[in-house]
Amino acid sequence: MDESLQTLRRKIALGTRILASQGCLGDILGHLSARIPGTDEMFMRLLGDEEKGLLYSDVRHVRRLGFDRTVEQVDGYRVPLELPIHGELYKARPEAQVVLHAHPYHCLIATIAGLELRPIYGSYDPLILSRAMQGIPVYPRSVLIDSPELAAEFISAMGDSDCCLMRGHGLTVIGPTVEAVTLLALRLEMLAKITLDATRATGGRALEPLPQADLDAFAFVVKQGLQAAVSKVYEWTWNHYVQRIADTVGLPAEDE
Ligand SMILES: [Zn+2]
Repeated sequence: MDESLQTLRRKIALGTRILASQGCLGDILGHLSARIPGTDEMFMRLLGDEEKGLLYSDVRHVRRLGFDRTVEQVDGYRVPLELPIHGELYKARPEAQVVLHAHPYHCLIATIAGLELRPIYGSYDPLILSRAMQGIPVYPRSVLIDSPELAAEFISAMGDSDCCLMRGHGLTVIGPTVEAVTLLALRLEMLAKITLDATRATGGRALEPLPQADLDAFAFVVKQGLQAAVSKVYEWTWNHYVQRIADTVGLPAEDE
């Protein structure tokens, strides 16, 4: 296999380990995929026999499959029911190179409680602030997205956003790279956790977003070049999580 495709598979396995290690992916539920450039196919972490869970994802678990759920198994690995989330997003959003669908706990509770994720903190994490300022859409249904029709409904609720909460279900994130999608998902889950904790601390009172003057100040900083620094921040943060995986469960095993 082409070395760049092999690198992509390795990165999906690694991103899955990172997301599982941080509680953003569960034991076996949820999936990370990447478009195979120039094709109508993707790589996706699938579940197979002798499965030990997403924290233990290896390169061999990342299989090549089409955008449509036409088969139930690929190379002996099970194709997930919610594959249409990935396939239909790749069709509808050409900028999506990577798709994550996950069931992170705090995002789940926030949607059940009807709590909006708003720009409630600033310098603590300016990267997610700029994202929260744009508003984070919520798909109001809790159904399994197991058909192109339901995926279309979900994609319509997502609008032109790169992420969407799903009520009583979880979260879907798209982006240009495995790194960007992984790190955005981790930050969204942190925003959901802080939103829940702060709401609890105020006895259930709705949280006020930051004052407009602070939002304006951050909008100015973003315009002045925070974006340029973002790639470095992402690189360092990604490296941090890769090292944590290497030091704990270990890096994904290569394909046999
Ligand atoms: Zn799901």
